[in-house]
Amino acid sequence: MRDAILHGDASVQRRAIAKAITLLESTRAQHRAQGDALLTALLPYTGKSLRLGFSGVPGVGKSTLIEALGLYLIDQGRRVAVLTIDPSSSVSGGSILGDKTRMEKLSMHEQAFIRPSPSSGTLGGVAEKTREAMLVCEAAGYDIVIVETVGVGQSEVAVAGMTDMLVLMQLPNAGDDLQAIKKGVLELADLVLINKADIDADAATRAQAQISSGLQLTEIHGHASAHPQPQAAAGAQRAAHWQPRVITSSALHGQGIDTLWAAVREFQTLQMANGAFHTRRQSQALAWMWQRIDAGLKQSFKNHPAVRQQLPQLSAAVQSGQIAASTAARHLLAAAVGEVPTD
Ligand code: GDP
Repeated sequence: MRDAILHGDASVQRRAIAKAITLLESTRAQHRAQGDALLTALLPYTGKSLRLGFSGVPGVGKSTLIEALGLYLIDQGRRVAVLTIDPSSSVSGGSILGDKTRMEKLSMHEQAFIRPSPSSGTLGGVAEKTREAMLVCEAAGYDIVIVETVGVGQSEVAVAGMTDMLVLMQLPNAGDDLQAIKKGVLELADLVLINKADIDADAATRAQAQISSGLQLTEIHGHASAHPQPQAAAGAQRAAHWQPRVITSSALHGQGIDTLWAAVREFQTLQMANGAFHTRRQSQALAWMWQRIDAGLKQSFKNHPAVRQQLPQLSAAVQSGQIAASTAARHLLAAAVGEVPTD
């Protein structure tokens, strides 16, 4: 599989990537071991793509824009992979992103690879699969890997934690109600794209001004904050030494794609020159390792025989107020490492 991913011709390669991602998405222990071996074999060939995150509410025009941008980049001789993180599918089993046919032209193109969100698992699990899928696409030589998510919940943090640049998409009326843009999300954006500018050009220009000044505020806040943001723990931080841009687009009419791409290039050149590009990736990789350790520890804790035995009884005791939550936690932790609790 490794050779087909690295050196296969376009169709062989695309099939091998799809198979590799399916393997990585499997929860069976044997597949997990094979998946890990594959990732290790591919790792030396990863890291060369530009990782771009896109987020925005359903209907803002993400798939229209990504398709237009993807075709524009393919025209320039680049190869583009698109991966999605759909937080809704992990909660409800249904999907905001996946149900309709999306990016039809792009998906048919030989130089593109599109993969919908894994349909089950927690957000953390889905993000893990997407991150691994991203590495496979990189090893296969895709120049740009786009990770797309719906602008609800925590998924932006996950995407910002795995990409080099986060683009937040907004509708032209967003500026009228800046409060509606969750502050935490605005703080993560390296670029805000106001789409559907064709519908109301005046509103789009107004939103551009309002969001620009909103961004300057988050910039001041962000730097003045003495406390690390929770996002930082996920390796999600807006780029240093960069004043986030606000630009307008009309994805449906292919307008603004070149401006967007020019801004992305400028960002990449600057960040590479000052070292921030590399630093961001390093801290993302470490944050990722710790997140997986946290998740893994919790899983093996829950699987521990002594914990499984004591958990129902202690949970009931906590619920009925017979034992303090912290005491129960200490007992369970001690049981998991085979110690006698000290209290
Ligand atoms: P997503 O849910 O964010 O992926 O949004 P879609 O790309 O599916 O777009 C939702 C709807 O908005 C579709 O009917 C698109 O044709 C339309 N749309 C997308 N971009 C634009 C735009 O720039 N202008 C206008 N007028 N419509 C757009």
